Amino acid sequence: MTGAPRQSILRALMRRRVFREASDEEWRDWRWQLRHSVRSLEELARLVPLTEDERRGCLETKEIFRLGISPYYLSLIDPEHPFCPVRMQAIPRGAEALRSPGELRDPLGEDRHRPVRAIVHKYPDRVLLLALDHCPVYCRHCTRRRITSGEEGGISREELDEAVAYLREHREVRDVLVSGGDPLLLSTARLVELLEQIRAVPHVEIIRIGTRVPVCLPMRIDEELARALRRFAPLFVVTHFNHAKEVTPEAREACELLVDHGIPVENQAVLMRRVNSSARAIKDLMQKCLTMRVRPYYLHQMDLAEGLEHLRTPLQKGIEILGALRGWTSGLAVPHLAVDLPGGGGKVTLQPDYLLERRERETLLKSYRGETYSYPEPRETDCSVPYDEVYYR
Ligand code: SF4
Repeated sequence: MTGAPRQSILRALMRRRVFREASDEEWRDWRWQLRHSVRSLEELARLVPLTEDERRGCLETKEIFRLGISPYYLSLIDPEHPFCPVRMQAIPRGAEALRSPGELRDPLGEDRHRPVRAIVHKYPDRVLLLALDHCPVYCRHCTRRRITSGEEGGISREELDEAVAYLREHREVRDVLVSGGDPLLLSTARLVELLEQIRAVPHVEIIRIGTRVPVCLPMRIDEELARALRRFAPLFVVTHFNHAKEVTPEAREACELLVDHGIPVENQAVLMRRVNSSARAIKDLMQKCLTMRVRPYYLHQMDLAEGLEHLRTPLQKGIEILGALRGWTSGLAVPHLAVDLPGGGGKVTLQPDYLLERRERETLLKSYRGETYSYPEPRETDCSVPYDEVYYR
């Protein structure tokens, strides 16, 4: 047996094996899930037959980064396969404890753009608001691990008030990404309070919530939360599925509930060596996202955070994968391949080069099948828009 049926049987077996005592009601309760998260090598080893490398990883990263896996996400792990993509995202390997050349504690250069503790203001018109430092699962590829490791300490209510005061004072900010940590781990009441404060800032047009809850703790998304978020439109949820194995009936229900309440859901995946670094894995993931009405947005090249060399792919791999998607599946399923420049240069996007040659009256382009086509250039090349002078006066 292969594919989805095998996965659902494995999941049912895994759930029965590891959390036999849990009633269905408990299993669907996100607070029960958080209370029963697996946080130590001892607990984990009782539930999953660990490899030597994983044991070493748990021991050697103990002081570096939190271990935490919700029972739900743990139930997606294939206990028989060390290269299960869910397993590789949740259980550390020995290599995670190593520092490689070029790796940085703050790979995106965010800390020098933190005017107050809970705000990163790196781009002209948008900010990142760090709502808390906890997550439902501590992803082994997390690039904001200096925050989610707990090393900096939690974010207080006063610091969030200070962040909102910063937004009020900065009229250029029109887009706020609430992230962390995972903001959907706040109680609905506290989250609503924070969103009300942000929405009350007149120049903030768009709110985005960065969350891995639909992937790792989908039961958190219920009718009450979806209705609460709806009030803050335009509000986008940006989530983080990395492999089709994470697209379960529960995850689908969570995403569809959000979309049914008018909340657009976008996906940002990270390209990881031997987790999803094939055209087949990425295409399958993007197509499955679309079936949940989740729009593939970015495919991120792995950032240069400490301990992640073993998960990084060569830049060319991502370009190759994009080349295997563009034209071969719907354009909606093709994400932007983004590289967040090390040290804080911001994002740039890459794609296969379809431009062969520019001539005076035509440009030669390559099709997705590799054939050459000519695009004749117009005779007139002045593209200024006369009405701009009136409209933008
Ligand atoms: S959910 Fe996001 S912030 Fe939290 S550990 Fe995973 S990647 Fe990092």
